[in-house]
Amino acid sequence: MKKIYDQIAKLKQYSYLQGIVSWDLETEMPQLAHKQTADAAQFLGDIYYELITDPTFIEEVNNIDTALLSEVDQKVINELKLEIFKIEVIPKVEYVAFLRLLNESHVAWVEARNDNNYSIFAPFLEKIINYQKKFISYYGYEQHPYDALLNEYERGMTVSQLDPLFDMIATKLTPLLKLIAEQEPINNEFLVTGPYAVDKQKEFCHKIAEKVGFDFRSGVLKESAHPFSMSLNKHNIRMTTHFYENDLNSAISSTLHETGHSLYEQGVSDDLLHTNLDSGVSLGIHESQSRLYENYVGKSLQFWEHNFEQLQELFPEHLSNVTVENFYKAINKVQPSLIRVEADELTYPFHVMIRYQIEKEIFSDEVSVDELPKRWNELYKEYLGIDVPSDSQGILQDVHWSMGSFGYFPTYVLGSAYASQIMNKLIQDIDFDKVLSGEFSVLKSYLGEHIHQFGSLKDPDELINNFTNEKFNPEYYITYLFNKYKHLYNI
Ligand code: ZN
Repeated sequence: MKKIYDQIAKLKQYSYLQGIVSWDLETEMPQLAHKQTADAAQFLGDIYYELITDPTFIEEVNNIDTALLSEVDQKVINELKLEIFKIEVIPKVEYVAFLRLLNESHVAWVEARNDNNYSIFAPFLEKIINYQKKFISYYGYEQHPYDALLNEYERGMTVSQLDPLFDMIATKLTPLLKLIAEQEPINNEFLVTGPYAVDKQKEFCHKIAEKVGFDFRSGVLKESAHPFSMSLNKHNIRMTTHFYENDLNSAISSTLHETGHSLYEQGVSDDLLHTNLDSGVSLGIHESQSRLYENYVGKSLQFWEHNFEQLQELFPEHLSNVTVENFYKAINKVQPSLIRVEADELTYPFHVMIRYQIEKEIFSDEVSVDELPKRWNELYKEYLGIDVPSDSQGILQDVHWSMGSFGYFPTYVLGSAYASQIMNKLIQDIDFDKVLSGEFSVLKSYLGEHIHQFGSLKDPDELINNFTNEKFNPEYYITYLFNKYKHLYNI
């Protein structure tokens, strides 16, 4: 294993540098620097490829007798084999060109979104999709071509498993949405008028992230158009949020969401730091942690009973006459809307379902790139009953496709469903009310013990099974949404 760990150490250095370049691309890079940044990314991608496909290394990985290895070493080898397979099946020239395309596509997407001009992004999207279709043919699949991409983000996930989940959301949640639409709307005017000074929002968001356990000695919180978080390693976590003067809840929600991701990464065991298992196991499990902090913590009445006063002190002109109950109701208001990342918990899965539907159609050749905006708008009308006024607020809103991430969206709903199952167990084991009253270290160490510490050592199904003594069960998610919103709207 010594030689293998030496190579892993090198690979980690290049991943680290690649991470720095992509962080730069998303946050600080000046607009005109994109060519040089893309060149740097290509250079690093090239070396990474050489290292992972080095024949001596591959031979070493393939020949090692895993029966004699520890659990960690066995998993290290398995992960390497999967990674080698994924890269080896793609010809080098295509792999490097794809990385370059993604850097250029990101710039095109930003411009297209700013100018509300889909045609700027469409040619790049077409190329990305064509690459993905090629990659699917290299990866292989059993039932649906889209399965090959789903598997990239949630190992083993397939259309045949996701179709029933989304069907259940559509059939069970649509009637609840209709019932809510018939109720007296919740007044959230004070939240979305403002102006709420950005510097004060920043101050509050930093405090909240720190309060729930984010370690600023091992991480930063910055800004980007689309909030995200990334781990260079557990001591170097980068996360972003965004601030709107006329939407107080947006930054708070995003900050707690990204903090949930970051706590997972900061909580990985030190014993895994030198391995390739030192990061969250899947996007679905990752999203369970972010959703837990965003929704179960940040959208609960108990949390705000202990934190609202602080917010009132920062914004007395807007909040001094608002009660904590009204604030709680306002941040949970259900309102079908255009933008996924701003959606309430109940309409959120519908946004994901629309993207899932479209991606499935793309990879079964049912829709062309030119037809996508029209298809997008049709589905928003069908599921959420709203008209999409512009592509910037429609098909251009998400960064994912410009990054080549197809098969990613469904993990958001999976994450919410995992979170509900985890919470069902968690409230039996620890006093969650106490957590919300300020004892966040209890929550952090509980999740650390059952999820965070393992990094990628255990697969998602194993993790959920061991922790909750049950296989993945999306019923908890549906029940949670029903209880929460029936109570909120007095139905
Ligand atoms: Zn997330």
